[in-house]
Amino acid sequence: MKNPIIGIMGAMLEEVTGVIALVENPVKQELGMRTYYQGKINGVDVVVVFSRWGKVAAATTISTLITEFHITELIFTGVAGAIAQNVKVGDMVLAKRVMQHDMDSRPLLPQYVIPLHKKIFFENMEEHLQESEKTITEFLTNQQINQQLLEQFNITNPKLWIGDIASGDQFFSSNEQKKQLADAFPTVLCVEMEGAAVAQICTEYNIPWTIIRTISDSADDNSSTDFQRFIEEIASVYAVEVIKLWVTPQTPNKASTSQPVPHRRG
Ligand code: SAH
Repeated sequence: MKNPIIGIMGAMLEEVTGVIALVENPVKQELGMRTYYQGKINGVDVVVVFSRWGKVAAATTISTLITEFHITELIFTGVAGAIAQNVKVGDMVLAKRVMQHDMDSRPLLPQYVIPLHKKIFFENMEEHLQESEKTITEFLTNQQINQQLLEQFNITNPKLWIGDIASGDQFFSSNEQKKQLADAFPTVLCVEMEGAAVAQICTEYNIPWTIIRTISDSADDNSSTDFQRFIEEIASVYAVEVIKLWVTPQTPNKASTSQPVPHRRG
């Protein structure tokens, strides 16, 4: 069996900085305007990188992780805007399926279909999700984030959702954008700018992927309110704590050891 190497990617510098601080004996390498940090977390080989925003940035970063750093598994953490009505700021979303809401090759192919794959969604294996679900539930149940801080963002009882995520090169900041996506894809829980690109490249190279998003905004007319503070004070803590729990010597074999736990699904 290949030596496991976990690629850890984030689209927010504040989150990635915290994760880099977890890396033991980091070795820094610059490639294609990205900085990759190789080392160990919890005794496991990792490569951590700040991907930058958007599908192109994410696709090129994951390709480099696979072809230059030979990662065997990928975890992506980042923030996202809520699309489904019950998904709230402070909740977390684990991607079961991801799609690109801005892919449109009509009339050559139906809207949203990815030409190379002739399909809309990239789907994660159920067994692969179970251990991540367990890890995130453990974090949300035991998280020690200052209660007053959570209240400032109206976060009372953060939940985990598992389901569909839409990605595209747009920051959603209007009620109209949100409604259009929700109408086209009623199962979509949240919107972001990288996930579907990452899942596509991982699928093409047969690399297991995990995408975990913290809801930072409501993807509507109010979406930029407090965004920066939320990232610095809440999302960065979520990302670091989840990575600490998620990267363990058993990580690559998670699927075979996992037990289902109660959860909420979208
Ligand atoms: N306008 C913000 C920055 C954009 S954030 C600021 O003031 O700093 C873009 C990142 O957040 C991307 O990684 C994207 O995946 C994610 N994201 C969070 N909320 C989003 C939303 N409402 N629409 C699209 N992407 C969102």
